[in-house]
Amino acid sequence: MSARVFDSLVDQERIISALNNALTASDSSGQEMTHAWLFTGPPGSGRSNAAKSFAAALVCKSGGCGECTDCITALKGTHPDVEILDTSGVSIKIDEIRELVSRSAWGASISPWRVVVIEDCDRMTEAAANALLKALEEPASQTVWLLCAPTLQDVIPTIRSRCRHLNLKTPSASEIAKFLETTLGTSKSDSELAARISHGHIGKARGFLKDSNFQSSRRKYFDLLFSIKSEASAIKAAGKFLEFVNERVDTILGEKEERETEELKNALQGTGRGLISGGAKAIKDLEREQKSRLNRAIKDEIDGALLDYSTLLRDSLLEPSLRVNTDLNEQINQIAQNVKPNLVSLLLSELSQTRELLTTNASQTLLLERLFLSFTRMKLGN
Ligand SMILES: [Zn+2]
Repeated sequence: MSARVFDSLVDQERIISALNNALTASDSSGQEMTHAWLFTGPPGSGRSNAAKSFAAALVCKSGGCGECTDCITALKGTHPDVEILDTSGVSIKIDEIRELVSRSAWGASISPWRVVVIEDCDRMTEAAANALLKALEEPASQTVWLLCAPTLQDVIPTIRSRCRHLNLKTPSASEIAKFLETTLGTSKSDSELAARISHGHIGKARGFLKDSNFQSSRRKYFDLLFSIKSEASAIKAAGKFLEFVNERVDTILGEKEERETEELKNALQGTGRGLISGGAKAIKDLEREQKSRLNRAIKDEIDGALLDYSTLLRDSLLEPSLRVNTDLNEQINQIAQNVKPNLVSLLLSELSQTRELLTTNASQTLLLERLFLSFTRMKLGN
């Protein structure tokens, strides 16, 4: 029997059966529940979704029906026995972990377990990780810790050795397509296109179908690529590319940041005039966090667009039936007809080199200009 709440995990049969086994074993054979789990998997594979679903199954009276109040509130993090630490901040600090640890000792209130989900364990500061380690070494009998991180290497060895490790795989495009078709009711062909262009990232695939901004920005990035005809237009396109990246990131983060600052300022407002003591520092800290989150979002956005360029170029080397960007067949055919395969390969390696360099502190403008100048060799749009 599989808990219904795991239906939202795409192409993760092995994980689902491990979780189901743990649920049944602790239920019927009285076998002790593992108190610390570590879910790893590439971005978009659903690792925090897996952890949250498991949390729901642990507190649900029917073992994870996915429909009752326990399940629904557990998934949202509002269940009294489920706590979800998500990454609104860039790093997870020791104070946050200390508070979590002391709350975790309370025991469960209305369910057999008290479950704590930490979504991005890789963002714990060293001090925070050590505070967590203490709790994992002597777990409260009713508490289950569910930690998530991209890879095993992102978690310090002392913590990972205390956890049972489950690694989610990148879900296949065909499984993602099936999932989108059933959950969103989108057409087979739209679902398949979304699944292919999102490279195994379920959230992106859903975004492509549900969020028109997502589609128009993908279009915009490709239009910029196709606008490159000369050196002058390459430089111009690189500038516009970065401008658009910043606009996109602003729309995604801007509102959230304003709200955060507002909330923090309200919380720090003393009874008299001005901020309570330490308030100015807290605001500075938040600003620093926001700045580094902004930088990360910009890097992610650039990388996503360049990855799209790579798949488009690769498509030009493939049979139409094997292509990713089937909605751009006309442009892909144009590249296939006019650009020699060895130039395509060269540009693909330029692209991957640029993506690599963009993870460093090298100038984004210079890197993109150089890349876009190399695209002039394709003589697109002539
Ligand atoms: Zn339920």
